[in-house]
Amino acid sequence: MWMHDFQSKVQRKGRDIHMVLSVSLAETAKGNTKPVKITRKSLCSLCKGARTISQGRMSRCSSCQGYGRLRYKRAFVGCEQCFGSGSTVTKPCPACQGEGLVGGEEVETVHIPAGTMEGSKLRLKHKGHHSSTNGEPGDLIFSLKLKSDTLFKRVGIDIISKVHISVAEAVLGTTLEVDTIHGVKEVAVNPGILHGTRVRIRGFGLRKGNIQGDHCVTVLFCMPKSLTQEEHDLYSRLVTLGKKRS
Ligand SMILES: [Zn+2]
Ligand SMILES: [Zn+2]
Repeated sequence: MWMHDFQSKVQRKGRDIHMVLSVSLAETAKGNTKPVKITRKSLCSLCKGARTISQGRMSRCSSCQGYGRLRYKRAFVGCEQCFGSGSTVTKPCPACQGEGLVGGEEVETVHIPAGTMEGSKLRLKHKGHHSSTNGEPGDLIFSLKLKSDTLFKRVGIDIISKVHISVAEAVLGTTLEVDTIHGVKEVAVNPGILHGTRVRIRGFGLRKGNIQGDHCVTVLFCMPKSLTQEEHDLYSRLVTLGKKRS
């Protein structure tokens, strides 16, 4: 098996690149295309993938016995000593240390489809590491992770946020400009709203299949920490008026 691989110089596929991609709630809802910096290994320009530039001898890798991979738990992993080739070189190429490939930073444009959920995987075929044996490149695989958002919280497909209004606004009613993942939405607040009331904006949440989530905004009162003389006079007047009414 090993002799066959070694002598026929089989073309091995390049390895896959696995990366975690942090996305915002808005990106998962609406989709986005963005550049992502990756480190991709491509053919070493010095040895052209031969792994040595001298007439150094190749010998069977002692770590994997020439198989290029090792059994780890129940799966196989690439052998690190011979870079998965099954053989080691006595005089490794100085540019790539005998791997035949060197890493370089590149920018890849990634399209995040709308409605993507946390944990989904995006696979970009043939955008992984190149192969030193003329095989096809591996894939570039992104695992999507949701950025922790200070503005929004996610509950299923609903988005939760908070908004603060003044006591006077609560009494008289007001129009709120609520930030949602789909942009700013105006919401009318009726006079006399209670502290902690949750206002639902239908259809402004995330989408899963045919179901569209909502945006829920909790309206909280801002108690003034200090008052100007004018505000103090107005509140005093309100207290006096209240006593007259009762
Ligand atoms: Zn090299
Ligand atoms: Zn090995």
